[in-house]
Amino acid sequence: MERLQKILAQAGIASRRKCEEMILAGVVEVNGEKVTELGVKADPAVDVILVNGKPIRNEKKVYVMLNKPKGVITSASDPQGRKIVSDYLPGIRERVYPVGRLDYDTEGLLLLTNDGEFANLLTHPSHHVPKTYYATVKGVPHGTLLDQLKKGVKLEDGMTAPAEVEYQDVNTEENTSTVRITIYEGRNRQVRRMFEAINHPVVRLRRVKFGELGLHNLARGQFRHLTPVEVKELR
Ligand code: URA
Repeated sequence: MERLQKILAQAGIASRRKCEEMILAGVVEVNGEKVTELGVKADPAVDVILVNGKPIRNEKKVYVMLNKPKGVITSASDPQGRKIVSDYLPGIRERVYPVGRLDYDTEGLLLLTNDGEFANLLTHPSHHVPKTYYATVKGVPHGTLLDQLKKGVKLEDGMTAPAEVEYQDVNTEENTSTVRITIYEGRNRQVRRMFEAINHPVVRLRRVKFGELGLHNLARGQFRHLTPVEVKELR
């Protein structure tokens, strides 16, 4: 038996908090009875649980890693008809959602799952999951500028938390350089905004690590399932 809000969150309905609000709002029924208080437990294998009159799906949990190409949008649909991440998940029949976002033009490691609770946990600001990127930027930022990124820079939504930053490579022909950066937050367009703040805008951004999980040799546009050990280690 598990608490109802946990069952709903695990079924991918919404975050646990949102599910609590839904219970209080009276849209959840267990075995024909409306539940309007928190603390009620149920067994998803036996009980009939409805949200807004519809049974929740008790799907198998899937966890996948995609090497997202550039020019793909991290959402379930796009009114402008652009490519979406699920176009790259042939054979995955479950409705999976991205764990956080990557910008349209950002490439690399993106996790997707139908386990709402897992996604919520990993994207919650208190969790501080490290995310590592290779940022190719215009010009060659001076070491003192990289030190500023390490300590924290002022963005319009506040100072950034300390980050790990190191040079990888300089391309003198193109006048760009590549910097490896690990951040412990996940604000909107954060890495791009951090480099804008030091006047070295990003021309290419690729995420190579999420927590301890690395992209390794997963080809661009390809996905793989996480192993149970990998899922456990991320929690
Ligand atoms: N930071 C960005 O600026 N963009 C991303 O897609 C991810 C992190």
